Amino acid sequence: MHIELPPQVEQIIERLAEHGYEAYAVGGCVRDTLLGRCPGDWDITTSARPEQIKALFRRTIDTGIQHGTVTVMMEGEGYEVTTYRIDGEYEDGRHPKQVKFTSDLLEDLRRRDFTINAMAYSHRTGIVDAFGGIEDLERKRIRCVGSAAERFEEDALRILRAIRFSAQLDFAVDEETWNAIKLIAPNLNKVSRERVQMELTKLLCSDHPERIGQVYETGMAPYVTPDFADLSWQTACFPKDSPRKKYVRWAAFLRCGRAALQADGRQLEAEPGGAEWERERAAFAVRILRDLKLDNDTIGKVRTLVAWSGVILPLEAPSVRRAMSRMEPEVWDSLAVLNGWGAELVEMAERIRRRGDCLSLKQLAVNGQDLIAEGIAPGREIGRILGVMFEEVLDHPEHNKKELLIPWYFSEKGRA
Ligand code: ATP
Ligand code: MG
Repeated sequence: MHIELPPQVEQIIERLAEHGYEAYAVGGCVRDTLLGRCPGDWDITTSARPEQIKALFRRTIDTGIQHGTVTVMMEGEGYEVTTYRIDGEYEDGRHPKQVKFTSDLLEDLRRRDFTINAMAYSHRTGIVDAFGGIEDLERKRIRCVGSAAERFEEDALRILRAIRFSAQLDFAVDEETWNAIKLIAPNLNKVSRERVQMELTKLLCSDHPERIGQVYETGMAPYVTPDFADLSWQTACFPKDSPRKKYVRWAAFLRCGRAALQADGRQLEAEPGGAEWERERAAFAVRILRDLKLDNDTIGKVRTLVAWSGVILPLEAPSVRRAMSRMEPEVWDSLAVLNGWGAELVEMAERIRRRGDCLSLKQLAVNGQDLIAEGIAPGREIGRILGVMFEEVLDHPEHNKKELLIPWYFSEKGRA
């Protein structure tokens, strides 16, 4: 079987081969190409040692020399080239204690997690499929290389990867592998939260985010974070057209809220954050994301989306502007999808944007300097007055002019 390789990958493999080393494209890129999917990155595995790899290419980066990985730069793109290796004993299911280099490709393939990820390819040799990876691709099956229980004991993250790949590829998890996942589930708490988070994020950003349910069905959830297990996951709903952005997908999931409080959920008001239940739900989501070490930008956006989830906005420009003013435009658009807001509301927001209505203090025609020039002492009072003006402008965008707002505020009417 012939696989189309990017020219840079061909060059790297060829160069290594010319110098007597074996080299193959390996892992995810072989899997994805055979499935007709576009690989995210091309990894290369070789019998050459890191020093030998570095000697053959002009620009290299020591990405993980102790694990045998050198990044080879080709036309501004990096390609990871890794020496064949055997992962030694895993320490606490976390990191291999030591890695041993080997000259045998099969040993390198055997340490990999699933049969579909354990194939290698080069033009000279064709596909090397020692563990039935092609058959599992055809059967749409996630199956461990060798004994599932043993492989999961070595590195418990693999139990989550199994479900992540099943969601990305729409594959089923093989029975032996599934039973081993249930058995090893508690070991997930030995894995770093960053690694757990990255797999969960990939799962949620896949075509089948609802497969996050399998994290619960396998008994892994309590070992993700303590709160994670308490989510009302069965009620989670992922709109078909929701963008594949991590904050959107996390929000779509976390808005299901805490199972214990779900029953208590009432019809939400037009302004979020009012009901204790809503505040609790957003805080709960934030706690889970913090525990999973998500970045602050994502956490902030999820907090907003969860707080506004389920809100029914009246079809009136001032309330729409008020809501828009509380979040970035991109977050607003995602919220419209998550809340299933109708075309009229979406179009009203579009008109508001096109007109350039003031939606943030930055766009207000008056600033702090203007107020100081009017004799207001610098300090808290400035912020308060700007807030009053901003509220006025949200109701009447046509009032966003310095020559209107200042007299308006300082007139009796404005101060009342
Ligand atoms: P993608 O990059 O699309 O998420 P991938 O299969 O390339 O998928 P990576 O995490 O990039 O996944 O890993 C590259 C390869 O390294 C895998 O295909 C697999 O062969 C091997 N691998 C990665 N993580 C593990 C692990 N925890 N245990 C065993 N093998 C692994
Ligand atoms: Mg990859």
